Amino acid sequence: MIIKAECGDCGASGLFRGMCEPEGFAAVCGGCQGEGYVNLKITEFTRRKGKRGVHTVRLSWGAGIPITYKEFQQGKRPCEK
Ligand SMILES: [Zn+2]
Repeated sequence: MIIKAECGDCGASGLFRGMCEPEGFAAVCGGCQGEGYVNLKITEFTRRKGKRGVHTVRLSWGAGIPITYKEFQQGKRPCEK
C-alpha cells in the first residue's frame, strides 16, 4: 500500500530554507522535489515473523539479563536488571 505523506524535510511546504538562502529566498526541497509530500510504501503488520539463527535476545546496548528466543516469542522481553 502506498500512501501520500507530508514530507518531513520541509513540513509539507515543498520549500527549504538553509544557511545559503538569503532573507526571502527558499530552495526547492530535495526530499520531495517541491511537491510537499512523499510516497510511503506501507506494509500492514499481520504477525511477527521469525528470525533464523537467533537463540538469545538481549537489549540493544548489551545490558541486562538476556532471555531465550523462545521466551521472546512467548511475549517476554529482556529486562534491564
Ligand atoms: Zn519536502
